[in-house]
Amino acid sequence: MRLRHLAMTLSSLPPHPQTDVELEQYATEGDFAARWIAEIVQLGDLEPQTRVVDLGAGNGILGIGCFIAGANSVLLVEKDERCHHTFEGVEWLIGDVSEWKGNDVDLVIMNPPWGVQTNKADRPFLDAAFCSDAGVVYLLHSANAKHIEGIAKSYDWEGEIILSGNFRIPALYDHHNASSGGTDVSIWRFVRSPK
Ligand code: SAH
Repeated sequence: MRLRHLAMTLSSLPPHPQTDVELEQYATEGDFAARWIAEIVQLGDLEPQTRVVDLGAGNGILGIGCFIAGANSVLLVEKDERCHHTFEGVEWLIGDVSEWKGNDVDLVIMNPPWGVQTNKADRPFLDAAFCSDAGVVYLLHSANAKHIEGIAKSYDWEGEIILSGNFRIPALYDHHNASSGGTDVSIWRFVRSPK
């Protein structure tokens, strides 16, 4: 799979509506998603048998990227039904993240709300991922977030940052300075702590 091709395919998915400020809808761009997924493949976490769940999936860019990269199955969990579109081979759960049961999964990938608009809006996502049956969790979050490692630890998971980047935030979120050019993000990879 060519990185450029993956980036182009992901960039051409139906765009996230990105209008519900309350739900903190900051969509990942195709190039960055493709780089992230290539890294997952490189680390050996995405194989033909891997079952992927994307929490707070938006238009499904991360989960669909994993599907294209060869995942066995992909479930996209997203509350905003306007994000839904048909992509052959992937399934949707249109509903709250708390409705996901946490089973039939090897890898969780997510760029959830960061809890900037609504304090702790990321908590149900972290809880769902770390309580699930997954063996590895990938998370995109603000580089400024200080609470993530502690929460992971409380569930006996440990993580490291595998990729950093800059995220353009749409100008429609007018609490951001449109000229600031974006916000720094980190991508974490979590695995269960050794017993
Ligand atoms: N993962 C996508 C979207 C990121 S924005 C991407 O990287 O492009 C975060 C997404 O989480 C939004 O689409 C928002 O609608 C969704 N969301 C917010 N709260 C949610 C909840 N409680 N349950 C399910 N989805 C939620």
